[in-house]
Amino acid sequence: MAEDVSAAPSVSTYLLNLPSQSSRMPDEITVALIDGYIDDPAALGVPPYISPMIRAIAGAAVDAGADRVEYVTIDMIRDGARIPDASVTAVLSGNTVPGKYLRSMPMSMKELDALFPKLKGWRMIGGSAADSDVAQKFDFIIKRDMAASLYDGMTGKEVGERLRTLEEWNRWMLLGADIVTRHQDFPQPLVAEIESYRGCHRYASGGCSYCIEPMKGRPLMRAPQDILAEARKLRDLGVRNIRIGGQTCIVSYGSDPDSAVPRPNPAAVRELFEGLRDMGFDTIHTDNANAAVIATYPEESREVLQIIADCCTDGNIVALGMESADPIVVRENNLNSTSEQVMAAVRMINEIGAERGPRGMPKLLPGINIIAGLDGETSLTYKLDMELLEQMCQEGLMIRRINIRQVLPVRREFKVRVDQRRFKKFKEDVRETVDRTMLERVVPFGIVLKDVYMELNDGNVTFGRQIGSYPLLVGIPYRLEVGTAHDVMVTDWGYRSITGITYPFRINEMPMSALEALPGIGKKRATKLVLERPFSGPEDLSRAIDDPKVVESLTRFVVFRIIDFVEIHPELVHLPSRFHGRPHFTHLRARLVGEAFA
Ligand code: SF4
Repeated sequence: MAEDVSAAPSVSTYLLNLPSQSSRMPDEITVALIDGYIDDPAALGVPPYISPMIRAIAGAAVDAGADRVEYVTIDMIRDGARIPDASVTAVLSGNTVPGKYLRSMPMSMKELDALFPKLKGWRMIGGSAADSDVAQKFDFIIKRDMAASLYDGMTGKEVGERLRTLEEWNRWMLLGADIVTRHQDFPQPLVAEIESYRGCHRYASGGCSYCIEPMKGRPLMRAPQDILAEARKLRDLGVRNIRIGGQTCIVSYGSDPDSAVPRPNPAAVRELFEGLRDMGFDTIHTDNANAAVIATYPEESREVLQIIADCCTDGNIVALGMESADPIVVRENNLNSTSEQVMAAVRMINEIGAERGPRGMPKLLPGINIIAGLDGETSLTYKLDMELLEQMCQEGLMIRRINIRQVLPVRREFKVRVDQRRFKKFKEDVRETVDRTMLERVVPFGIVLKDVYMELNDGNVTFGRQIGSYPLLVGIPYRLEVGTAHDVMVTDWGYRSITGITYPFRINEMPMSALEALPGIGKKRATKLVLERPFSGPEDLSRAIDDPKVVESLTRFVVFRIIDFVEIHPELVHLPSRFHGRPHFTHLRARLVGEAFA
């Protein structure tokens, strides 16, 4: 590991002062960016996301005078893309928050090792992969801010470790935005994460024991107009989906950076989110919030959460970093909120965000993070965590997702040895008693989720997700084309995913595998349906199905002729504004009528 990178030669030394190689100097300076994807608490860049860090690096390269910036992702390389010729190659990769990925994985160490000999020019590595053994081979190992280090190297300064200034930050996000168009997921389902600020308000006390965010010092806030300028640029390039993410607490955006539990600033949040809403993105989501802030300033927080619920797309989540409901663990690790504060925040977010939006999801729900292995943990800790989650169930509250993981000793070592059996049992108990209940509340049977983007075929099952933050995994028990979007009606729940069928379900046309997936059907009845169809209407179904209850349930969502759909389910048809004033003729009806008579 290069402990003292400042002692190493700067990139510009190579680029500009290499007389013996002057005849080989490139006419133009090309910087190659290899996006191996990052998944850190403060940045998400695993597809469909593109991280703000890689865009900042591109912007820093342009700002420093690069003539060309080449951008390739690890998925493009896996698919055979060439490693670009370059004077400098910057690799960004690593996941400090181990996640489960559906179709795109961050670059593995094996891939990084295999890639290294093919990289051209000076080689830099950043992201948490900089901590790996393979990183030792690189000319520069950057642990803080790769954009700032690259900029310094290219402008004749030493390649040290520093964080970018606010001016650089805003400038680089504009200069580097163009690379989004070269990402394999552009324009859909790409989500561009946009940062609102860096650092944690609790920095003065050192913050939570395991978290590296306080190490960034005093929070540095971007002004609403600077974030809006970046969003506008991305939108003009064709980006359709954004997430205001990375910040430690979105409710604290625009607040006093020197207050550990700051009073929220609804005016700043309003300026930002109303500005974003007016740009007409398909998806606007957010990320983290601090329960202590919400519980301490309920009036201002309520206003902020309402703005977020109103201006963003439904299915939005604010993840609350509870970490532990055990007061001893909270104290020993200087955690940010008590279990009472978490309960207050969960109640308030439910009050404001439970209403369902046009995509079929509640507008805004809380997520809960729980961490095992923190100092002070005992068997009682798991009991207290479970009791809190059960209380949420009993109160009828909704949690969109519960993330349970073991602490990563990134900042320091922890004294507790996690009892793996107890940890596993706790996770199973939460899955079985809480997750399933919550899923049934968040997406009850019969709810139609709009625009589920199909991402993966696995045997006869197709997996898809709506575009956005922590989207629900939906399994459709038959094959659909990957890359297409469908409306899906929920028919069943797993612990962390749901099953659904495409909606409207055309019983006279759908394949056998799809019929089998209908509630109450199965192989035998599906065979009969195939043999007996077409069916003219609900009564006709009894020719193939002898159970009136199953027939009745089917008539809730199957259609016989396309045109029947709008006659049976007018309440499910949303009326776009251009059809206002024509109450009996919705957009969907128009489309379906068109299809029926085509
Ligand atoms: S509140 Fe704790 S977990 Fe959240 S950013 Fe600050 S130190 Fe990290």
